[in-house]
Amino acid sequence: MSVKAGAMRITGYKSHGVAAAAALVNAVTSAGGDDSPDALRRILRDNEFFWQEFEDADAAEFRDWGRTLRPFFEAARVEDAMTMLNRLMLEIPMHPHLADHEPHGLHMHYAPPSSRLAHRFRATTLMNLAELIVEHGLGRTGVCAADGCDRVYADTSRAGRRRFCSESCANRTNVAAFRARRRT
Ligand SMILES: [Zn+2]
Ligand SMILES: [Zn+2]
Repeated sequence: MSVKAGAMRITGYKSHGVAAAAALVNAVTSAGGDDSPDALRRILRDNEFFWQEFEDADAAEFRDWGRTLRPFFEAARVEDAMTMLNRLMLEIPMHPHLADHEPHGLHMHYAPPSSRLAHRFRATTLMNLAELIVEHGLGRTGVCAADGCDRVYADTSRAGRRRFCSESCANRTNVAAFRARRRT
């Protein structure tokens, strides 16, 4: 699901790091996911990262990161997500600083200034997920509730009641529930 430019935020549940993390996890770990270099580049572009810096040789690092982040979306307890994020925050060198550039305006960067794209992406997605659980616990992320779907989601709606990765999974599940009710 792509997010319209302008709707993207730098922090909170609409943050580009949260949306990009979910898209990457799906590309790399879900059945039918596309983790080709072009697909990864598209994820970066859709989520307003510096996709122009992405080189095909970076794909392996992004795939590793997608596999690393999957357990966050699967975490059943906020304590598990905390432990995981804390461990990653120790492993990934951080150097928080302010930056001011398009399209985000004034905002935080978390990786050291001269870091490569893959490293900056790790630092930003990690910190955005950390900020997300501070504000919302695990209420805005999860694995799709549809039968047979292993995709994850990050809920960017105001209401925050999402349980499916996509409209099509929500509809399929609702139709099945409706039929089941009619049968009984
Ligand atoms: Zn920036
Ligand atoms: Zn789904």
